[in-house]
Amino acid sequence: MIRPEMKPWVAGIAPYVPGKAKIAGRPVVARLASNENPFGPSPKAIAAMAAVLAGSHRYPDPASTELREALAALHGIEADRILCGTGSDELIHLVAGAFAGPGDEVLYVRYGFAVYDIAARRVGATPVVAPDRDYACDVDALLAAVTPRTRVVFLANPNNPTGTLISAAEVRRLHAGLPADCVLGLDCAYAEFATGEYEDGIGLARAFTNVVALRTFSKIYGLAAQRIGWAYAQPALVEAMHRIRAPFNVPTTGQAGAVAALADQTFVTMTRDHTLHWRDWMNGEIASLGNAGLRAIPSAANFVLVEFPESGPVTAAAANEALIADGILTRYLAVQAMPRCIRISVGTEPETRAAMASLRRFVERASA
Ligand SMILES: *Cc1c(COP(=O)(O)O)cnc(C)c1O
Repeated sequence: MIRPEMKPWVAGIAPYVPGKAKIAGRPVVARLASNENPFGPSPKAIAAMAAVLAGSHRYPDPASTELREALAALHGIEADRILCGTGSDELIHLVAGAFAGPGDEVLYVRYGFAVYDIAARRVGATPVVAPDRDYACDVDALLAAVTPRTRVVFLANPNNPTGTLISAAEVRRLHAGLPADCVLGLDCAYAEFATGEYEDGIGLARAFTNVVALRTFSKIYGLAAQRIGWAYAQPALVEAMHRIRAPFNVPTTGQAGAVAALADQTFVTMTRDHTLHWRDWMNGEIASLGNAGLRAIPSAANFVLVEFPESGPVTAAAANEALIADGILTRYLAVQAMPRCIRISVGTEPETRAAMASLRRFVERASA
């Protein structure tokens, strides 16, 4: 029978598996599977979005002008070097689509963000995965995997799903080791949560012709449903990505909500302070379960990756079942070749406490 055949590179894509949002037949106690802001968006963003709803019959501003100007003012950068996207997901696809194609390689580190593989394959490029160093980015391994065909290197810093961070010096060493015709896509979705000697990509993207910094409103700004991301890069890179983006890629509500969210830095600071406090608390809780073989991977983001023993009674798979039975949704990472790991987002205080109490009960029960 003659029928449409999907392209072989499309057939090679394993569809993205999102974090769970519901549990069949049971109310959700805590939704900690997707690293969202547990407080919602800023109330000012909600008001701004409500105020533009009646204009929904009009197409949005295709250039996201006001939003780019607000971003430029806040970050001290040029508005015409900013490109907004339908989440930073779209921008990841634009980086791959503008600079890689069949025969090219797109490089990233093992346990990198799941969308990089999809973005590479979607344009017919070959994804290349460099080894990690205890879940974190190994710059030497990445550089060793660069070939004359490498067109794009993606690095999430802090990384998702591991939460690991590499220092500004390491990011600069990675960039310095890349050929000038290779784009470094620095995905800083969790930049606002990072502490210590951190490089958010903006300085590099301003200084070099081959760096794209990627940011999002989905995490600290609490606007995941509005799908707003932004890229900052030198004009030639922005211009290339602009050619292949969707014309009206950020809705009017998203643009208005993001502008208002940027103006409410008090909300951002509150979220950050809360997150860092409860992330530390979670680390301590998990460390106290160390005898059972649990380990928290050091996180610079708004979640903690927990590693469980490979076998025995206290596995990640069993913990995941126990958490779900208590109405707690986290991210069991078997789908990302990490069957020993569960990623738990920092929630509100009651959510975070409920998750850790559930985990502790499971461990005590299973190891009794
Ligand atoms: C959440 C996330 C994004 C994408 O978020 P959008 O909602 O598409 O803006 C990008 N990169 C990483 C590493 C993320 O964790």
